[in-house]
Amino acid sequence: MERAEIEQWLRETDDKRLKTLWDIADKVRNDHVGSAVYLRGLVEFSNNCARQCAYCGLHAGNRKVNRYRMTEDEIVACAHKAVEFGYGTVVLQSGEDRAYKRDDLSSIIRRIKTETPLAVTLSLGEREDAELLAWREAGADRYLLRFETSNPDLYAIIHPNLAGKPSDRLAMLRRMRDMGYEIGSGIMVGIPGQTYADIARDIETFRELDLDMIGIGPYLSHPDTMLGQRREELTAPGGEQAPSGELMTYKAVALTRIALPEANIPSTTALATVNRAKGRELGLRRGANIMMPNITPVKYRKDYQIYPGKACIMEDAAACHGCMLMRIEALGRTVGSGRGDSPHYKNANLAPA
Ligand code: SAM
Repeated sequence: MERAEIEQWLRETDDKRLKTLWDIADKVRNDHVGSAVYLRGLVEFSNNCARQCAYCGLHAGNRKVNRYRMTEDEIVACAHKAVEFGYGTVVLQSGEDRAYKRDDLSSIIRRIKTETPLAVTLSLGEREDAELLAWREAGADRYLLRFETSNPDLYAIIHPNLAGKPSDRLAMLRRMRDMGYEIGSGIMVGIPGQTYADIARDIETFRELDLDMIGIGPYLSHPDTMLGQRREELTAPGGEQAPSGELMTYKAVALTRIALPEANIPSTTALATVNRAKGRELGLRRGANIMMPNITPVKYRKDYQIYPGKACIMEDAAACHGCMLMRIEALGRTVGSGRGDSPHYKNANLAPA
């Protein structure tokens, strides 16, 4: 599908035509990655962040956040919980928190890899190549780093550089691919200033990067952020602003599935936040094949509010697990067993022997 056609679909409002889009995406998903839904246990282990992202409630300047850091033992205990629930992967996510040094994270990764059979996914923001290499050597399998938007002007506004360090997430993703990581990226949908054309180019960029994993969620406004406070003034003029919200996100998910048939695509927590009853299911029926149940200890969850009203912050890991199983079964899909590596990564022979 060419960029112009993608953009046309993003503007589509006719329910019948959209039903066709959902059906095509669902068939492509079934033909290429099958009916299994893989579960990744998500541990949000620190909400400290060095950055000043204009969208994120955890940005460094937000004094209202009660900051926490989990210890190595707490993180490894979560990985054991993931094994108990039958998950094949643990995702270690945090703000960009350099209090965890290269060797601290290497030690955590090594312990998880020796004590469990789990695949380890990292989502730690922008870190040095020497660190990324060390973590890969310690056994990390995958890295998630959303580029958020492929529009460079918008990116510069919403994701300010750190002093002396230009942020180039696209280049970092390419380097991580060369290091042997399975690489994942993604975007937020409906960022103030983001146009339909921008999202069509984002999907093309997924293809250019040849991604193994793609996370797409609606942008959700946080009142204690720059974007939350200046939304109106940044909105793209002339009817070109891409709406934030679930419909636009489903369109982006479905078109991404069609563009990258073998990628792993989660039905995100942000979708569950905008539609608590059905968001996760509709994501799965419109192209997604992954869910990320939260296994962070409950006492920390309320403090990892990247946006307000985040789903699943009052439940414990067992409740999240039960809820996901019920939703998958209700769709007539199965729960994937094993690591659930991206078929794209395996088929392209990118996986180490
Ligand atoms: N610090 C790491 C990073 O920047 O990649 C990982 C944590 S960061 C909180 C994970 C993702 O949350 C971001 O890539 C962004 O897409 C998403 N996010 C942050 N604020 C959001 C918001 N207000 N609405 C929707 N998604 C948001």
